[in-house]
Amino acid sequence: MSCPFCMIADSIPPATEPKVLTTPLGSAYPVLSTAIVIAFLDIAPVTPGHILLCPRRHCEKATDMTVAEAAALGVWLPILTRALLKVLGTTTEEAGWNIIQANGSEAGQTVPHSHFHIIPRLGGPRGATDIS
Ligand code: 5GP
Ligand code: ZN
Repeated sequence: MSCPFCMIADSIPPATEPKVLTTPLGSAYPVLSTAIVIAFLDIAPVTPGHILLCPRRHCEKATDMTVAEAAALGVWLPILTRALLKVLGTTTEEAGWNIIQANGSEAGQTVPHSHFHIIPRLGGPRGATDIS
């Protein structure tokens, strides 16, 4: 099976010490790589800095994750968000962001390798359900 996120995972070896991004954003910059999870920039960002966080192992829906994978994602989501906003020159106090995760094509999932979107929102207020 050809899965784009498995291909990305295979191309980013686990870092000996997990590091979150600390340098300016580039097109395919790996922002995080551990034995369990990876995070990388979305190829078609909704806003600058839009990143995806997923288990390294292929699993289609959030309910297919192991407890260890789900726990690792839960730990990294806030750490990545903070690091991302810092790179973008802002803070969790000043900026907004969306965390989105879709399960199944009915819910809008297009890549069948479970992932969380972290989408920085540095503009003004917007509708809570306006996620495009
Ligand atoms: P979904 O619609 O499944 O929630 O989100 C899939 C996301 O993956 C989309 O935002 C899309 O732009 C992104 N994407 C699809 N293929 C690739 C790829 O090969 N590389 C990267 N970095 N992002 C991808
Ligand atoms: Zn995969």
